[in-house]
Amino acid sequence: MQRAGRQVTVVDAGEIGRGCSFGNAGLIAVDHVQPLARPDVLLGAFGMLANPLGPLHLRWASLPSLLPWLVRFALASRPSAVRKGTDILALLLRNAVPAWRQLASEPGEANLFQRQGYLTLFETAQAARAAEDENRLLLEHGIRFEPVSGSGIRAMCPALKPQMHAGRFHPDAIYTTDPFGLVQNLYRRFVGDGGIVVEGRRVLRILTEAGAAVGLQLQDGELKADNVVLTAGNGSPDLIRPLGVKAPLTSERGYHVMVEAGKVPLNIPLLFAERGFVATPMASGLRLAGTVELGAHAPDWKRADVLRRHAAELFDRPGLAEQTRWFGDRPTLPDYLPMIGMVPGYRNVTLAFGHQHLGLTLAAITAELVGDILRTGAPRHDISALSVSRFS
Ligand SMILES: Cc1cc2nc3c(=O)[nH]c(=O)nc-3n(C[C@H](O)[C@H](O)[C@H](O)COP(=O)(O)OP(=O)(O)OC[C@H]3O[C@@H](n4cnc5c(N)ncnc54)[C@H](O)[C@@H]3O)c2cc1C
Repeated sequence: MQRAGRQVTVVDAGEIGRGCSFGNAGLIAVDHVQPLARPDVLLGAFGMLANPLGPLHLRWASLPSLLPWLVRFALASRPSAVRKGTDILALLLRNAVPAWRQLASEPGEANLFQRQGYLTLFETAQAARAAEDENRLLLEHGIRFEPVSGSGIRAMCPALKPQMHAGRFHPDAIYTTDPFGLVQNLYRRFVGDGGIVVEGRRVLRILTEAGAAVGLQLQDGELKADNVVLTAGNGSPDLIRPLGVKAPLTSERGYHVMVEAGKVPLNIPLLFAERGFVATPMASGLRLAGTVELGAHAPDWKRADVLRRHAAELFDRPGLAEQTRWFGDRPTLPDYLPMIGMVPGYRNVTLAFGHQHLGLTLAAITAELVGDILRTGAPRHDISALSVSRFS
Protein backbone atom coordinates (compact mmCIF):
# COMPACT_ATOMS: atom_id res chain seq x y z
CA MET A 1 0.00 0.00 0.00
CA GLN A 2 2.91 2.28 0.70
CA ARG A 3 4.27 1.57 -2.76
CA ALA A 4 0.83 2.53 -4.13
CA GLY A 5 1.29 5.94 -2.53
CA ARG A 6 -0.62 5.58 0.74
CA GLN A 7 0.64 6.70 4.13
CA VAL A 8 0.94 3.48 6.17
CA THR A 9 1.51 2.98 9.90
CA VAL A 10 2.39 -0.46 11.26
CA VAL A 11 1.55 -1.09 14.91
CA ASP A 12 3.15 -4.07 16.65
CA ALA A 13 2.79 -5.01 20.30
CA GLY A 14 6.28 -6.48 20.26
CA GLU A 15 9.41 -5.96 18.24
CA ILE A 16 8.91 -6.18 14.46
CA GLY A 17 9.70 -9.68 13.19
CA ARG A 18 10.03 -11.27 16.63
CA GLY A 19 6.72 -13.16 16.44
CA CYS A 20 6.33 -16.58 14.88
CA SER A 21 8.02 -15.22 11.74
CA PHE A 22 11.35 -14.93 13.58
CA GLY A 23 12.38 -18.57 13.57
CA ASN A 24 10.69 -20.43 10.75
CA ALA A 25 12.44 -22.89 8.44
CA GLY A 26 12.74 -20.34 5.64
CA LEU A 27 11.00 -22.35 2.91
CA ILE A 28 8.72 -20.95 0.27
CA ALA A 29 7.01 -24.30 0.55
CA VAL A 30 5.45 -24.63 -2.90
CA ASP A 31 4.56 -28.32 -2.46
CA HIS A 32 2.19 -27.83 0.50
CA VAL A 33 -0.88 -27.92 -1.72
CA GLN A 34 -3.06 -30.00 0.56
CA PRO A 35 -4.47 -28.46 3.74
CA LEU A 36 -3.37 -30.40 6.83
CA ALA A 37 -7.04 -30.82 7.76
CA ARG A 38 -7.67 -34.08 5.87
CA PRO A 39 -8.66 -37.69 6.57
CA ASP A 40 -5.17 -39.26 6.38
CA VAL A 41 -3.78 -36.71 8.88
CA LEU A 42 -6.77 -37.25 11.16
CA LEU A 43 -6.24 -41.04 11.12
CA GLY A 44 -2.46 -40.80 11.36
CA ALA A 45 -2.67 -38.43 14.33
CA PHE A 46 -3.30 -41.27 16.78
CA GLY A 47 -0.11 -43.07 15.75
CA MET A 48 1.86 -39.81 15.85
CA LEU A 49 0.60 -38.99 19.35
CA ALA A 50 1.69 -42.41 20.61
CA ASN A 51 5.26 -41.84 19.40
CA PRO A 52 7.27 -39.55 21.73
CA LEU A 53 9.65 -38.77 18.86
CA GLY A 54 6.77 -38.18 16.43
CA PRO A 55 5.96 -34.86 14.78
CA LEU A 56 2.76 -34.23 16.80
CA HIS A 57 2.38 -33.67 20.52
CA LEU A 58 -0.75 -32.78 22.47
CA ARG A 59 -0.86 -31.36 25.98
CA TRP A 60 -3.68 -33.53 27.28
CA ALA A 61 -4.57 -31.06 30.05
CA SER A 62 -5.53 -28.59 27.30
CA LEU A 63 -7.86 -31.07 25.57
CA PRO A 64 -11.14 -29.56 26.86
CA SER A 65 -10.25 -26.11 25.52
CA LEU A 66 -8.95 -27.59 22.24
CA LEU A 67 -12.04 -29.73 21.61
CA PRO A 68 -14.06 -27.15 19.64
CA TRP A 69 -11.06 -26.58 17.34
CA LEU A 70 -10.54 -30.34 16.94
CA VAL A 71 -14.19 -30.85 16.03
CA ARG A 72 -13.96 -28.15 13.38
CA PHE A 73 -10.70 -29.73 12.16
CA ALA A 74 -12.50 -33.06 11.74
CA LEU A 75 -15.33 -31.35 9.84
CA ALA A 76 -12.86 -29.55 7.61
CA SER A 77 -11.31 -32.94 6.74
CA ARG A 78 -14.33 -33.90 4.61
CA PRO A 79 -13.21 -34.79 1.08
CA SER A 80 -15.23 -31.94 -0.48
CA ALA A 81 -13.66 -29.40 1.89
CA VAL A 82 -10.18 -30.82 1.26
CA ARG A 83 -10.66 -30.49 -2.51
CA LYS A 84 -11.75 -26.87 -2.15
CA GLY A 85 -8.86 -26.15 0.21
CA THR A 86 -6.36 -27.78 -2.16
CA ASP A 87 -7.60 -25.70 -5.10
CA ILE A 88 -7.16 -22.41 -3.27
CA LEU A 89 -3.81 -23.34 -1.69
CA ALA A 90 -2.49 -24.46 -5.08
CA LEU A 91 -3.55 -21.15 -6.59
CA LEU A 92 -1.76 -19.20 -3.85
CA LEU A 93 1.34 -21.42 -4.01
CA ARG A 94 1.66 -21.07 -7.79
CA ASN A 95 1.85 -17.33 -7.23
CA ALA A 96 3.97 -17.38 -4.08
CA VAL A 97 7.45 -17.23 -5.64
CA PRO A 98 6.59 -14.55 -8.27
CA ALA A 99 4.99 -12.45 -5.51
CA TRP A 100 8.13 -12.73 -3.35
CA ARG A 101 10.29 -11.70 -6.32
CA GLN A 102 8.15 -8.60 -6.69
CA LEU A 103 8.11 -7.73 -2.98
CA ALA A 104 11.76 -8.47 -2.17
CA SER A 105 13.07 -6.60 -5.18
CA GLU A 106 15.94 -4.67 -3.57
CA PRO A 107 19.34 -6.44 -3.34
CA GLY A 108 19.26 -6.32 0.50
CA GLU A 109 16.15 -8.53 0.49
CA ALA A 110 16.65 -10.49 -2.73
CA ASN A 111 20.14 -11.62 -1.61
CA LEU A 112 18.63 -13.34 1.40
CA PHE A 113 16.96 -15.87 -0.91
CA GLN A 114 18.55 -18.97 -2.39
CA ARG A 115 17.08 -20.30 -5.60
CA GLN A 116 18.28 -23.88 -5.89
CA GLY A 117 15.10 -25.60 -4.65
CA TYR A 118 14.60 -28.08 -1.81
CA LEU A 119 14.15 -31.80 -1.36
CA THR A 120 11.26 -33.61 0.35
CA LEU A 121 12.43 -37.01 1.64
CA PHE A 122 10.55 -40.22 2.36
CA GLU A 123 12.38 -42.72 4.51
CA THR A 124 10.00 -45.63 3.88
CA ALA A 125 8.23 -47.11 0.87
CA GLN A 126 4.96 -46.63 2.74
CA ALA A 127 5.49 -42.86 3.07
CA ALA A 128 6.54 -42.60 -0.57
CA ARG A 129 3.37 -44.47 -1.59
CA ALA A 130 1.25 -42.23 0.63
CA ALA A 131 2.72 -39.20 -1.16
CA GLU A 132 1.56 -40.44 -4.58
CA ASP A 133 -1.79 -38.67 -4.27
CA GLU A 134 0.02 -35.47 -3.42
CA ASN A 135 2.35 -35.92 -6.39
CA ARG A 136 -0.66 -36.26 -8.66
CA LEU A 137 -2.19 -33.08 -7.20
CA LEU A 138 1.05 -31.18 -7.71
CA LEU A 139 1.07 -32.18 -11.38
CA GLU A 140 -2.62 -31.36 -11.76
CA HIS A 141 -2.02 -27.89 -10.34
CA GLY A 142 1.06 -27.17 -12.40
CA ILE A 143 3.57 -27.32 -9.53
CA ARG A 144 6.73 -28.85 -10.93
CA PHE A 145 8.83 -31.48 -9.13
CA GLU A 146 11.36 -34.16 -10.01
CA PRO A 147 11.20 -37.64 -8.43
CA VAL A 148 14.56 -38.69 -6.93
CA SER A 149 15.60 -42.27 -6.15
CA GLY A 150 17.37 -43.38 -2.97
CA SER A 151 20.74 -43.44 -4.75
CA GLY A 152 19.99 -40.06 -6.33
CA ILE A 153 19.41 -38.65 -2.84
CA ARG A 154 22.71 -40.04 -1.64
CA ALA A 155 24.47 -38.36 -4.54
CA MET A 156 22.74 -35.03 -3.84
CA CYS A 157 23.26 -35.12 -0.04
CA PRO A 158 26.34 -37.15 0.92
CA ALA A 159 25.99 -35.85 4.50
CA LEU A 160 22.85 -37.91 4.98
CA LYS A 161 23.46 -41.31 6.59
CA PRO A 162 20.40 -43.59 6.49
CA GLN A 163 19.21 -44.78 3.14
CA MET A 164 16.18 -42.74 2.09
CA HIS A 165 13.57 -44.59 0.08
CA ALA A 166 12.69 -41.76 -2.31
CA GLY A 167 12.48 -38.02 -2.64
CA ARG A 168 10.84 -35.18 -4.51
CA PHE A 169 12.95 -32.28 -5.68
CA HIS A 170 11.28 -28.89 -6.12
CA PRO A 171 13.43 -26.99 -8.57
CA ASP A 172 11.27 -23.83 -8.59
CA ALA A 173 11.19 -23.44 -4.82
CA ILE A 174 13.23 -20.77 -3.08
CA TYR A 175 14.19 -20.34 0.56
CA THR A 176 15.59 -17.62 2.74
CA THR A 177 18.80 -18.07 4.69
CA ASP A 178 17.67 -15.50 7.26
CA PRO A 179 13.91 -15.15 7.95
CA PHE A 180 14.39 -12.46 10.63
CA GLY A 181 16.89 -10.55 8.48
CA LEU A 182 14.35 -10.59 5.64
CA VAL A 183 11.67 -8.97 7.82
CA GLN A 184 14.23 -6.46 9.12
CA ASN A 185 15.27 -5.51 5.59
CA LEU A 186 11.68 -5.02 4.45
CA TYR A 187 11.04 -2.99 7.62
CA ARG A 188 14.07 -0.75 6.98
CA ARG A 189 12.94 -0.10 3.41
CA PHE A 190 9.40 0.65 4.59
CA VAL A 191 10.68 3.21 7.11
CA GLY A 192 13.17 4.63 4.58
CA ASP A 193 10.29 5.20 2.16
CA GLY A 194 8.33 7.17 4.77
CA GLY A 195 6.39 4.43 6.59
CA ILE A 196 5.68 4.86 10.29
CA VAL A 197 6.26 2.04 12.77
CA VAL A 198 4.79 2.02 16.26
CA GLU A 199 6.61 -0.75 18.12
CA GLY A 200 5.93 -2.12 21.58
CA ARG A 201 2.34 -0.84 21.78
CA ARG A 202 -0.59 -3.23 21.85
CA VAL A 203 -3.82 -2.63 19.93
CA LEU A 204 -6.71 -3.13 22.33
CA ARG A 205 -9.62 -2.44 20.02
CA ILE A 206 -10.57 -1.39 16.51
CA LEU A 207 -12.56 1.85 16.90
CA THR A 208 -15.66 1.95 14.72
CA GLU A 209 -18.47 4.36 13.87
CA ALA A 210 -21.46 3.68 11.63
CA GLY A 211 -20.09 0.69 9.71
CA ALA A 212 -16.53 1.92 9.38
CA ALA A 213 -13.28 1.77 11.31
CA VAL A 214 -12.06 5.19 12.42
CA GLY A 215 -8.90 4.13 14.21
CA LEU A 216 -7.27 1.94 16.81
CA GLN A 217 -7.38 2.04 20.57
CA LEU A 218 -3.83 1.44 21.75
CA GLN A 219 -2.86 0.68 25.32
CA ASP A 220 -1.85 4.32 25.76
CA GLY A 221 -3.84 6.39 23.32
CA GLU A 222 -5.69 6.36 20.03
CA LEU A 223 -4.55 6.29 16.43
CA LYS A 224 -6.81 7.58 13.66
CA ALA A 225 -7.05 5.57 10.43
CA ASP A 226 -8.94 5.61 7.11
CA ASN A 227 -8.38 1.89 6.68
CA VAL A 228 -7.46 -0.90 9.06
CA VAL A 229 -5.71 -4.10 7.96
CA LEU A 230 -5.44 -6.71 10.71
CA THR A 231 -2.46 -9.06 10.36
CA ALA A 232 -1.79 -9.75 14.04
CA GLY A 233 -1.34 -13.55 13.82
CA ASN A 234 -2.51 -15.13 17.07
CA GLY A 235 -3.60 -11.74 18.39
CA SER A 236 -6.20 -11.25 15.63
CA PRO A 237 -9.32 -13.14 16.85
CA ASP A 238 -9.77 -11.01 19.98
CA LEU A 239 -9.65 -7.83 17.91
CA ILE A 240 -12.24 -8.86 15.36
CA ARG A 241 -14.71 -10.62 17.65
CA PRO A 242 -16.42 -7.30 18.52
CA LEU A 243 -16.95 -6.79 14.76
CA GLY A 244 -18.91 -10.05 14.58
CA VAL A 245 -16.22 -12.24 12.98
CA LYS A 246 -15.50 -15.65 14.47
CA ALA A 247 -11.97 -16.95 13.94
CA PRO A 248 -11.49 -20.20 15.91
CA LEU A 249 -7.73 -19.99 15.77
CA THR A 250 -5.33 -22.13 17.74
CA SER A 251 -1.59 -21.81 18.28
CA GLU A 252 0.39 -24.69 16.84
CA ARG A 253 3.72 -24.51 18.55
CA GLY A 254 6.86 -25.40 16.64
CA TYR A 255 10.52 -25.36 17.69
CA HIS A 256 13.86 -24.77 16.11
CA VAL A 257 17.41 -25.59 17.10
CA MET A 258 20.41 -23.95 15.47
CA VAL A 259 23.47 -26.15 15.22
CA GLU A 260 26.94 -25.61 13.81
CA ALA A 261 26.69 -25.80 10.02
CA GLY A 262 30.26 -26.90 9.37
CA LYS A 263 29.69 -30.46 10.52
CA VAL A 264 26.69 -31.03 8.23
CA PRO A 265 27.45 -29.60 4.82
CA LEU A 266 24.07 -29.13 3.06
CA ASN A 267 23.48 -26.93 0.06
CA ILE A 268 19.69 -27.22 -0.05
CA PRO A 269 16.99 -27.60 2.63
CA LEU A 270 15.79 -31.13 3.36
CA LEU A 271 12.22 -31.77 4.45
CA PHE A 272 11.82 -35.07 6.29
CA ALA A 273 8.22 -36.09 5.64
CA GLU A 274 7.73 -38.73 8.36
CA ARG A 275 9.63 -36.85 11.06
CA GLY A 276 7.86 -33.55 10.27
CA PHE A 277 10.85 -31.25 10.30
CA VAL A 278 13.15 -29.36 7.97
CA ALA A 279 16.93 -28.94 8.01
CA THR A 280 17.78 -25.62 6.36
CA PRO A 281 21.29 -24.27 5.77
CA MET A 282 20.89 -20.72 7.11
CA ALA A 283 23.40 -17.87 7.08
CA SER A 284 24.09 -18.40 10.79
CA GLY A 285 24.15 -22.21 10.94
CA LEU A 286 22.01 -25.24 10.25
CA ARG A 287 18.40 -24.77 11.38
CA LEU A 288 16.39 -27.83 12.44
CA ALA A 289 12.80 -26.61 12.54
CA GLY A 290 9.35 -28.10 12.83
CA THR A 291 7.08 -30.37 14.88
CA VAL A 292 3.61 -29.46 16.10
CA GLU A 293 2.54 -29.08 19.71
CA LEU A 294 -1.14 -28.41 20.42
CA GLY A 295 -2.44 -26.85 23.62
CA ALA A 296 0.98 -25.61 24.74
CA HIS A 297 1.58 -23.06 27.52
CA ALA A 298 5.14 -23.11 28.86
CA PRO A 299 7.68 -24.33 26.29
CA ASP A 300 8.43 -28.05 26.40
CA TRP A 301 12.08 -28.08 25.37
CA LYS A 302 11.98 -31.86 25.03
CA ARG A 303 10.41 -31.12 21.64
CA ALA A 304 13.58 -29.27 20.64
CA ASP A 305 15.65 -32.19 21.95
CA VAL A 306 13.70 -34.45 19.55
CA LEU A 307 14.92 -32.31 16.64
CA ARG A 308 18.52 -32.70 17.79
CA ARG A 309 18.05 -36.44 18.12
CA HIS A 310 16.70 -36.65 14.56
CA ALA A 311 19.70 -34.71 13.27
CA ALA A 312 22.13 -36.94 15.17
CA GLU A 313 20.55 -40.02 13.54
CA LEU A 314 20.16 -38.61 10.06
CA PHE A 315 23.57 -37.03 9.75
CA ASP A 316 25.42 -39.48 12.03
CA ARG A 317 26.77 -36.55 14.08
CA PRO A 318 25.96 -37.30 17.75
CA GLY A 319 27.93 -34.35 19.12
CA LEU A 320 26.37 -31.52 17.06
CA ALA A 321 27.05 -28.33 19.01
CA GLU A 322 23.85 -26.42 19.65
CA GLN A 323 23.92 -22.64 19.21
CA THR A 324 20.39 -21.51 20.14
CA ARG A 325 16.86 -22.85 20.47
CA TRP A 326 13.51 -21.17 19.94
CA PHE A 327 9.77 -21.79 19.81
CA GLY A 328 7.03 -20.04 17.85
CA ASP A 329 3.25 -20.31 17.72
CA ARG A 330 1.77 -20.75 14.26
CA PRO A 331 -1.64 -19.06 13.92
CA THR A 332 -3.86 -21.88 12.63
CA LEU A 333 -7.55 -22.03 11.75
CA PRO A 334 -9.11 -25.52 11.80
CA ASP A 335 -9.36 -25.79 7.99
CA TYR A 336 -5.68 -24.84 7.56
CA LEU A 337 -6.51 -21.92 5.30
CA PRO A 338 -5.78 -18.27 6.01
CA MET A 339 -8.57 -15.74 6.43
CA ILE A 340 -8.22 -12.95 3.89
CA GLY A 341 -10.88 -10.41 3.01
CA MET A 342 -13.04 -7.53 4.17
CA VAL A 343 -15.17 -7.70 7.29
CA PRO A 344 -18.83 -7.78 6.25
CA GLY A 345 -20.69 -4.68 7.38
CA TYR A 346 -17.53 -2.55 7.60
CA ARG A 347 -16.30 -0.74 4.53
CA ASN A 348 -12.67 -0.36 5.53
CA VAL A 349 -11.54 -3.30 7.70
CA THR A 350 -9.51 -6.03 5.97
CA LEU A 351 -8.22 -9.22 7.59
CA ALA A 352 -5.17 -11.28 6.66
CA PHE A 353 -4.08 -13.86 9.22
CA GLY A 354 -4.19 -17.59 10.02
CA HIS A 355 -1.34 -18.58 7.70
CA GLN A 356 -0.46 -21.70 9.75
CA HIS A 357 2.61 -23.51 8.37
CA LEU A 358 2.79 -21.22 5.34
CA GLY A 359 3.12 -17.69 6.72
CA LEU A 360 6.45 -16.97 5.07
CA THR A 361 5.45 -18.74 1.86
CA LEU A 362 2.22 -16.79 1.47
CA ALA A 363 3.26 -13.42 2.91
CA ALA A 364 3.99 -11.72 -0.42
CA ILE A 365 0.94 -13.06 -2.29
CA THR A 366 -1.18 -12.08 0.72
CA ALA A 367 0.23 -8.55 0.50
CA GLU A 368 -0.77 -8.43 -3.18
CA LEU A 369 -4.30 -9.60 -2.42
CA VAL A 370 -4.73 -7.12 0.44
CA GLY A 371 -3.36 -4.36 -1.79
CA ASP A 372 -5.95 -5.25 -4.46
CA ILE A 373 -8.77 -5.18 -1.91
CA LEU A 374 -7.73 -1.77 -0.62
CA ARG A 375 -7.17 -0.25 -4.06
CA THR A 376 -10.07 -1.72 -6.02
CA GLY A 377 -12.32 -3.49 -3.52
CA ALA A 378 -11.64 -6.91 -5.10
CA PRO A 379 -8.66 -9.29 -5.11
CA ARG A 380 -7.11 -10.40 -8.44
CA HIS A 381 -7.97 -14.07 -7.75
CA ASP A 382 -11.17 -15.70 -6.52
CA ILE A 383 -10.36 -16.19 -2.84
CA SER A 384 -13.90 -16.81 -1.61
CA ALA A 385 -12.63 -20.04 0.03
CA LEU A 386 -10.64 -17.84 2.44
CA SER A 387 -13.74 -15.86 3.36
CA VAL A 388 -13.88 -13.93 6.60
CA SER A 389 -17.38 -15.20 7.41
CA ARG A 390 -16.78 -18.94 6.90
CA PHE A 391 -16.84 -19.73 10.64
CA SER A 392 -19.47 -17.17 11.62
C1 LIG B 1 9.14 -24.13 13.59
C2 LIG B 1 8.41 -23.39 12.51
C3 LIG B 1 8.83 -23.52 11.19
C4 LIG B 1 8.15 -22.85 10.17
N1 LIG B 1 8.61 -22.94 8.89
C5 LIG B 1 7.97 -22.26 7.89
C6 LIG B 1 8.47 -22.30 6.57
O1 LIG B 1 9.51 -22.89 6.26
N2 LIG B 1 7.77 -21.63 5.60
C7 LIG B 1 6.63 -20.94 5.88
O2 LIG B 1 6.02 -20.39 4.98
N3 LIG B 1 6.16 -20.85 7.15
C8 LIG B 1 6.78 -21.50 8.17
N4 LIG B 1 6.32 -21.42 9.44
C9 LIG B 1 5.07 -20.67 9.71
C10 LIG B 1 5.29 -19.17 9.75
O3 LIG B 1 6.42 -18.85 10.51
C11 LIG B 1 4.03 -18.50 10.33
O4 LIG B 1 2.92 -18.86 9.54
C12 LIG B 1 4.18 -16.98 10.28
O5 LIG B 1 5.29 -16.59 11.05
C13 LIG B 1 2.93 -16.28 10.81
O6 LIG B 1 3.15 -14.91 10.59
P1 LIG B 1 2.21 -13.81 11.21
O7 LIG B 1 2.72 -12.50 10.74
O8 LIG B 1 0.80 -14.17 10.97
O9 LIG B 1 2.44 -13.97 12.78
P2 LIG B 1 3.62 -13.41 13.68
O10 LIG B 1 4.94 -13.53 12.99
O11 LIG B 1 3.47 -14.07 15.01
O12 LIG B 1 3.30 -11.86 13.78
C14 LIG B 1 2.15 -11.38 14.44
C15 LIG B 1 2.51 -10.02 14.98
O13 LIG B 1 1.31 -9.43 15.50
C16 LIG B 1 1.64 -8.75 16.67
N5 LIG B 1 0.43 -8.62 17.49
C17 LIG B 1 -0.37 -9.61 17.97
N6 LIG B 1 -1.40 -9.09 18.68
C18 LIG B 1 -1.26 -7.74 18.63
C19 LIG B 1 -2.01 -6.64 19.16
N7 LIG B 1 -3.14 -6.82 19.88
N8 LIG B 1 -1.57 -5.38 18.93
C20 LIG B 1 -0.44 -5.16 18.17
N9 LIG B 1 0.30 -6.17 17.66
C21 LIG B 1 -0.10 -7.43 17.87
C22 LIG B 1 2.72 -9.59 17.35
O14 LIG B 1 3.50 -8.79 18.23
C23 LIG B 1 3.50 -10.10 16.15
O15 LIG B 1 4.62 -9.30 15.84
C24 LIG B 1 7.00 -22.05 10.49
C25 LIG B 1 6.60 -21.91 11.81
C26 LIG B 1 7.30 -22.57 12.82
C27 LIG B 1 6.86 -22.38 14.24
